[in-house]
Amino acid sequence: MKVDENEVRRRLGHFEAVVRAAGVRLTHQRLEVFREVAGSLDHPDAEAVFRAVRKRLRTVSLDTVYRTLRLLEDLGVLGTLGPRRESMRFDANLASHHHYVCLRCGLVRDFESADMSALPIPAEVREVGEVHGTFVEVRGFCRACEGKRQEESTAKHQKRPKGQERRRTWRRRSGS
Ligand SMILES: [Zn+2]
Ligand SMILES: [Zn+2]
Repeated sequence: MKVDENEVRRRLGHFEAVVRAAGVRLTHQRLEVFREVAGSLDHPDAEAVFRAVRKRLRTVSLDTVYRTLRLLEDLGVLGTLGPRRESMRFDANLASHHHYVCLRCGLVRDFESADMSALPIPAEVREVGEVHGTFVEVRGFCRACEGKRQEESTAKHQKRPKGQERRRTWRRRSGS
């Protein structure tokens, strides 16, 4: 899935301005790494960025991509999702937003909600530390996975021996 072209251009413009202002060299590699995240709706992890960038830059290494992503995060032009470890994913959408995450395939989509951004923070959280923002993660099975799950459960159901299937039917009836 691709981000709208005008939005990608806007993100690239912001990226170039921030990089220049920080006195960091705007190399072709850095631009390509950022462009990959900026143009994707998928919130890719370092390996996914590497696989995509390698198609255009044959000599790039996973390590370089990883270090570049960290640099861009330090510069504040990329956000991140999830815990800080190898599987960390990167996000070029810097506007306040929330995420829908598919539990099966890992799909991530942005959505905006003024209500969720303004959720009241319980006092106990403020005791733990300062609050900089609220990000809601909505979890479930995306449309594509929902379809696959139904197919899988149908296939399982068909493989089940007759006796068990009857017991299941009986249980469901007795439950209602
Ligand atoms: Zn999914
Ligand atoms: Zn996002």
